[in-house]
Amino acid sequence: MSEEGKLPSQRIQRRGLMLVLSSPSGAGKSTIARNLLEQDHGLELSVSVTTRSRRPSEIDGVHYHFITRREFDRMRDTDALLEWAEVHGNFYGSPREPVEAAMAEGRDILFDIDWQGAQQLGERMRVDVVSIFILPPSMAELKSRLHRRAEDNEETIARRLKNAAEEIEQWRSYDYVIVNDDLNRAFDAVRAIVKAERLRRDRRPGLFDFVSELLAEKT
Ligand code: 5GP
Repeated sequence: MSEEGKLPSQRIQRRGLMLVLSSPSGAGKSTIARNLLEQDHGLELSVSVTTRSRRPSEIDGVHYHFITRREFDRMRDTDALLEWAEVHGNFYGSPREPVEAAMAEGRDILFDIDWQGAQQLGERMRVDVVSIFILPPSMAELKSRLHRRAEDNEETIARRLKNAAEEIEQWRSYDYVIVNDDLNRAFDAVRAIVKAERLRRDRRPGLFDFVSELLAEKT
């Protein structure tokens, strides 16, 4: 439908939302992110670059762009990354260009990034960022999820567990915190947050014209 054919209430423009999901590895964040992207077509993933090696289940360009350390340094030094961090001994970053293009068109972006990246985005893009931290129900459950996933070796799992406590300590810097003791419930909570945040007045500059027209309407 053309813009002109739309009712005034359908023309309300909205600023894009930067939705940040963080958690220690194994807390269920990736499953929640995947389900969200499948069900919510207004949301697209920011595909990070990383220097870590590809896991067997991962596809280059879909889950990550797998790059060398030299390429990473080049992107970081030319300001091509919106944020970046070293996590578990590897480098990760969010490419700037696709995010800026999506935001300019009012599309929403999902970031699956750690607390360091969440803080950088929050500082740089404050009004547009909504951050959610997913907690595991217990450390024992986190450990068994990492083992069940069976994609990493023992050494990597041990390192990730050690880092989990450090990440959990950052919970206060997030807008929302969800305990993932039941995947469906945790997923519903994330959906509810996205739904409410999209309706926030300060994200909808088009409301101004709509309300003006509404009040000028002859009854
Ligand atoms: P994994 O190696 O398990 O895929 O990811 C390890 C951690 O790095 C996760 O907590 C993930 O959210 C985080 N991560 C992935 N991409 C990025 C990124 O672009 N920036 C930051 N800061 N963290 C990221």
